[in-house]
Amino acid sequence: MATLLNLSYLLAAVLFIFGLKQLGSPKTARRGNMLAMLGMLIAILMTLLDKQIIDFTYIIIGLIVGAGIGAYAAITVQMTNMPQMVALFNGFGGAASTFVAYSEFVAGNYVTSTGDPKLDIVITIGLSVLIGTVTFSGSLIAFAKLQGIMRGAPITFKGQQALNAASLIAVVILGGMLAVNPDNAILLVIILAIALLLGVISVIPIGGADMPVVISLLNSYSGLAAAATGFVLSNNVLIISGALVGASGLILTQIMCKAMNRSLANVLFAAVGTDDSTGTASGGRKDKSSVTQYTAEDAAMVFEAAQSVIIVPGYGLAVAQAQHVLQEFAQMLMANGTKVRYAIHPVAGRMPGHMNVLLAEANVPYDMLLEMDEINEDFQNTDIALVIGANDVINPAARTDKSSPLYGMPILNVDHAKSVMIVKRSLSAGFAGVDNELFYDQKTMMLFGDAKGMVTDLVKEYKNL
Ligand code: NDP
Repeated sequence: MATLLNLSYLLAAVLFIFGLKQLGSPKTARRGNMLAMLGMLIAILMTLLDKQIIDFTYIIIGLIVGAGIGAYAAITVQMTNMPQMVALFNGFGGAASTFVAYSEFVAGNYVTSTGDPKLDIVITIGLSVLIGTVTFSGSLIAFAKLQGIMRGAPITFKGQQALNAASLIAVVILGGMLAVNPDNAILLVIILAIALLLGVISVIPIGGADMPVVISLLNSYSGLAAAATGFVLSNNVLIISGALVGASGLILTQIMCKAMNRSLANVLFAAVGTDDSTGTASGGRKDKSSVTQYTAEDAAMVFEAAQSVIIVPGYGLAVAQAQHVLQEFAQMLMANGTKVRYAIHPVAGRMPGHMNVLLAEANVPYDMLLEMDEINEDFQNTDIALVIGANDVINPAARTDKSSPLYGMPILNVDHAKSVMIVKRSLSAGFAGVDNELFYDQKTMMLFGDAKGMVTDLVKEYKNL
């Protein structure tokens, strides 16, 4: 049985790795997800069939309740609320690791048959409790910030960094003491309490626009906690899958930091973000009379004459769920001989790959989607850059304004196009809470309205030409 178990764990691990690989491209992502799911199914089934289980009652109750809640959450969650859901799931993953490691400690499963403590197991129990609990409390704070339950802007106080450092030093010392004297159970309880605090104080100083990066990092932590728990239980598939989550979460964190041109340290410790980091009210400070406003009818005529159009989708497209009608419009333009492509900024929307998922839903062919580096030079030869609900990712302040929180972030060169059309409801700021000069530019035409309503009107007017 042990050989069969390990072979099926090996198969599950291989499926995880292939699944992850395929998640790297929108074309294969669906299949990748299925492969990873199959791997997890095999891992769970084989673990359940393993002879170590003496009673299935709680396992079955847990499976039914957990699967029910998970399925309900996944089906009903709005795409724009995905980061919150991922935060919650990470948090629960961390808590699960803590519970398992703590119960192994309480059950005394860290001693050999002769009664001597196993140092490696004691250390991994401590690590699992520490990382799992930090992930739990940190993820709950991230969830609360994104859900608007608590203030999204960075929350800082005097001596915060010192408290962070002191808490870290304290857990290292306590961990050392636990390794020397594992029978002193109170040490693990104190580590758990400090870890709860550490999760909270390390996430509260992080601002709204940086939250998705933190969520990705917490995802990585949840994997590390699971891997540590795998060592506690001597469970190979948990070690492998935890390590994969840990590594992939870290890689994703790096990708996001790079796309925003920030270091991870800057994201974690610089408390970047204004008080208005939800970006609803700070727009409109400039002279509105310099804004050129177009109706759908005016815009349709301009589109009729265009030979090339680059569509730039952003968070507002996701909010309005305008992807289907947008693709209908793109097809009408192409039928008229216009060259149409979509430009995808790596952090457009609220999670990595957000725009790819959205546009895949509308069956946009993958070859119409171009990454920023592939298309940025083409804007200068393009007649119209059509921006739908994007803001920060096209804000030229990122290139020029050193005081802007966006400074240094690579942006789509929308302002290099011959003309720019921007569909959004108002002159409001984007997620980073800063004004966008492009709205006031002479070559920019603002089409004010909900993205879905406005693009529907564009389709109608274009048909009537
Ligand atoms: P932004 O959040 O900057 O702007 C979105 C714009 O959409 C708003 O200005 C809003 O303007 C408009 N909008 C909202 N609802 C609608 C609607 N129903 N119809 C039309 N327009 C609407 O989006 P971007 O995609 O440009 O930028 C993403 C931001 O998120 C960046 O700051 C990025 O750094 C951050 N981020 C993203 C991550 C990711 O992985 N994708 C990760 C970390 C951060 P108005 O209210 O006037 O309509």
